[in-house]
Amino acid sequence: MTLTPRLLGLAFAAADALIEVDQHGVVRFALGSGAVAGQQTAAWVGHPFSERLSINSAAALQALLDGLSPGRRGPATEVLVDCGDGRMRRATLRAFALPDIAPARSCALSYEGEPFLVDGGPLEIGAPPPDAEGFLSHARATLAGGDADALQRLALAFIDLSGLEGVDPPTLQRIHSRIGATLSAASHDGASAGRLTTDRYALIRQADDQRDLANEMRMAGEAEGVALSAVASQAGLGRDSASALRAMRFAIEGCLKEGGLDQPELSFADSLQRTLADADRFRSIVRDREFALYYQPIVDLKTRAVHHFEALARFGKGSGPAAAIRMAEELALIDGFDLVVAEKAVRRLREPGGGLLKIAVNVSGASLANDAYVAALMKMTASAPEDRRRLMVEVTETAALADLAAADRRLGALRNAGIKVCIDDFGAGSASFDYLRGLSVDAVKIDGGLVRDIDIDARTRTMVAHLVELCGSLELETIAEMIETDEVADALRDLGVTHGQGWLFGRAEAEPRTVLNSPAIRGRRQGVVEGWS
Ligand code: C2E
Ligand code: MG
Ligand code: MG
Repeated sequence: MTLTPRLLGLAFAAADALIEVDQHGVVRFALGSGAVAGQQTAAWVGHPFSERLSINSAAALQALLDGLSPGRRGPATEVLVDCGDGRMRRATLRAFALPDIAPARSCALSYEGEPFLVDGGPLEIGAPPPDAEGFLSHARATLAGGDADALQRLALAFIDLSGLEGVDPPTLQRIHSRIGATLSAASHDGASAGRLTTDRYALIRQADDQRDLANEMRMAGEAEGVALSAVASQAGLGRDSASALRAMRFAIEGCLKEGGLDQPELSFADSLQRTLADADRFRSIVRDREFALYYQPIVDLKTRAVHHFEALARFGKGSGPAAAIRMAEELALIDGFDLVVAEKAVRRLREPGGGLLKIAVNVSGASLANDAYVAALMKMTASAPEDRRRLMVEVTETAALADLAAADRRLGALRNAGIKVCIDDFGAGSASFDYLRGLSVDAVKIDGGLVRDIDIDARTRTMVAHLVELCGSLELETIAEMIETDEVADALRDLGVTHGQGWLFGRAEAEPRTVLNSPAIRGRRQGVVEGWS
């Protein structure tokens, strides 16, 4: 092969050096610069190329050459090139099996960064990598401006390490610093890497970046005399930065919370991929209305006549909606869902024979963060405004209301139109009293946790008694949920709670019917419900 095509090859590969090795890995031809400025690769001729690389990089080179087929180009591989003076330099290696020089192989080296000292030498590193929170906030800042195409070229990579147990703290610190620096350098902008837990790291990188991060982590351990094992995994980020970030947060928090550390089989990438897939599935379920509303009766505790029904979402046989709803709230998918729920409930009200039916729908606090939900509900009921008197919304606290005053204005619009408003799960979350103070509502639903032991626990009884008194003075109705026994129902009634819901009276069913087969519900005609107050 003459020099011209080789030079062209060098330019084409945008490389700093072009090395040809024979079938034994010995350098036969070399062109371009060595790892240190002024050093030429010509001196490498006649020596195994592997001698110029770190031990791990030499193994990576061998694997790369072994995997090459004629006429093909191998994947870009990150290697460390030995500078010959105790320093190493990072480089990307690409190998080609050019027919002209077969069985020799051609390798292009592109150097990155400056040479750095290894084996206990001073570390060329800055601050330690940020923690999970720092990582997410950096990711938010860098991804916020990215357009969809750029984002689609990025991936979130996770590295799980083992072998750090028992390592002395100064060495551990150095390993973490090395890893942090290596991962930052491998990240898409040179700074998007973080340490999520003691032995888990994350970075945002180019999705097609081929460098072997797990191997680099092992090398970082090796440089400090510690044998590490590392597993790298990766998940794409999709096209929408806001949902990608939410999914990342959800996956990372889920992993940390659910004891991801005790569940090595559930890697962060698995969790992220699952979250992204779940989010897609949820979107299509909502779009195609592929879920049902079940109706659970709420009774007047004095008469035990059915008063209204709560619509509860059901996504499939036997599965409660709580996990899907929490996810939807975290991933900002809930407002679309809450609207479809309202739409289904309104439609049910209008079915033949539904004339006296009253339905309460749940609405996540997140859906009250803007005007869309309220506006759509008003529009939905505009053709038959009288239907509004048969609707109630239960504001759930799972996603906290950031702007209470604005939410109150929106709820006020519903109430002015005749729709009742209730605070759900009162007493379960820390914001209950803020809600009670900040929102003008018609009713308070006492959380099941306060109801369960009321017949035997005097303290709970005292709390509920005072709550009922407070609601009485604010002229609010009280509804107790999760009533499972007659004793509890009677105790609540004696404390002055006006309405009750629970398995004692009936489970949620596909049809809102006055459950005549439940002995807890006193004889009423099917479909008969009383007024709201
Ligand atoms: P929630 O609004 O407080 O609904 C009451 C939950 O208690 C329901 O769980 C219901 O099935 C359950 N339950 C009722 N009676 C009893 C009882 O006697 N004992 C026990 N142990 N449980 C009882 P579900 O259907 O799993 O719903 C869980 C939560 O998911 C709901 O709590 C609500 O916050 C949310 N959710 C359900 N449907 C929707 C919806 O359409 N939109 C929104 N935003 N949230 C919903
Ligand atoms: Mg509810
Ligand atoms: Mg509730």
